[in-house]
Amino acid sequence: MLEKTIRNLFLTYPRVLYGFTDTSYSSYAGIYQSALVFAVPYGEQLTLETYTEEKFEKGIQDARKVVEEILAQLEKILTAQKVTYYIPPVAQNNETDLEAPFSFKFAAVNAGLGWIGKNDVVITKRYGPRVRLSAILIDERFAYGDKITKSLCPETCRKCVDACPHKALYNIRWNIDSVRSDLIDYRLCNEKRSMSVKTLGRKHACGFCMAACPFGI
Ligand code: SF4
Ligand code: SF4
Repeated sequence: MLEKTIRNLFLTYPRVLYGFTDTSYSSYAGIYQSALVFAVPYGEQLTLETYTEEKFEKGIQDARKVVEEILAQLEKILTAQKVTYYIPPVAQNNETDLEAPFSFKFAAVNAGLGWIGKNDVVITKRYGPRVRLSAILIDERFAYGDKITKSLCPETCRKCVDACPHKALYNIRWNIDSVRSDLIDYRLCNEKRSMSVKTLGRKHACGFCMAACPFGI
C-alpha cells in the first residue's frame, strides 16, 4: 500500500529516476530498513559546448526545487501513514572529512540508479551525471532495485578526467569496492571550488567533469 502510493507519486514526475534499497551498508542500518533514493535531472542538460558556471548552478538550483517539492509530498504520505522516516542532510557536516552522514551516491548505486563515474559522481544512463540526488530513510521494506557493482564507463573514456581544470581525477574505473580517494583528490576539488566563496558567496559549481560526460546527451 505505502509502496504503491510512493510509486504513484513518482508517476507524476516521469523525468525523475528513483529506486529503493536496504540500508545495510550505512550507519542507519537497524534504525531504518530502507532508503528511497531519487535523481532529479538538472534544469538544463549542459555539455562543455553550452556550459557556463551560472547556467550550471541554475540547473542545480532548479533541480533542488523539484527535490524539495517531492520530499514535501513524501513527508505528507509517510506522516499520514504513521511510518517512521528521516531525511538525511545533503552535504557533509564538516569540511575535514567531507563526507555526508548518509551517502546518496552509495544509495543510488545500491538501488540500481547508476554507477560511479571516473568523475566520482553517479552516472545514470538517461542523464549521465546531470542529476541532483536525494534520499529519505524509511522504516519499512520495499521491492529493492538491482545493485550496480561495476562501472559502465567505457574503458578508454577519459573526457571527465581531461575536462577537470585542476587535475583532480585519477582516470580510475570504479567498482563497488572502490573508495572515493581511489578516484578523486576530493580535498583538492573542494579547495578549488571553495575559492569562490568570497566572490560568489558560495562554492563554485564547477562541474566541467559532468558537462564533459557523453552519457545522457
Ligand atoms: S568539480 Fe571541478 S574541480 Fe572537481 S573534479 Fe570536477 S572538474 Fe575537477
Ligand atoms: S566522461 Fe567518460 S569516464 Fe567520465 S564519467 Fe562520463 S563516461 Fe565515465
